[in-house]
Amino acid sequence: MTDKKAPLCPYCSSRMKKWRVPEGSTWPDAFFYVCFNDQCPYFTRGWLHIRENLGTTASYRCRYDPHADKYLPLPVWSAEALKENIIE
Ligand SMILES: [Zn+2]
Repeated sequence: MTDKKAPLCPYCSSRMKKWRVPEGSTWPDAFFYVCFNDQCPYFTRGWLHIRENLGTTASYRCRYDPHADKYLPLPVWSAEALKENIIE
C-alpha cells in the first residue's frame, strides 16, 4: 500500500518510504521518510564520496524529516541496511 503523503525523493523522484526510527536512536521522531531506491543518484554517488572523504565503505540515502521539513542524509553501510524498518 502506498502512503499518499509520502514525499518524492528530490534526487530520483521515487516515492519515499515511511521508515521507523530504530529504538535507542537519538532522534525524537517516530518515523522519517527515506528514499530506498537502490538506483537513486544520491545513494549511488554516496559510496565514492564517503570512500574519498572518510576512507570507509558506506553511503547514505535521502531522508526527509517531516518535523524539520528538511531533506537530510541517512548513513547506511550496505544496500540492504535499514530496510527492515520500512513501515507501509
Ligand atoms: Zn532517491
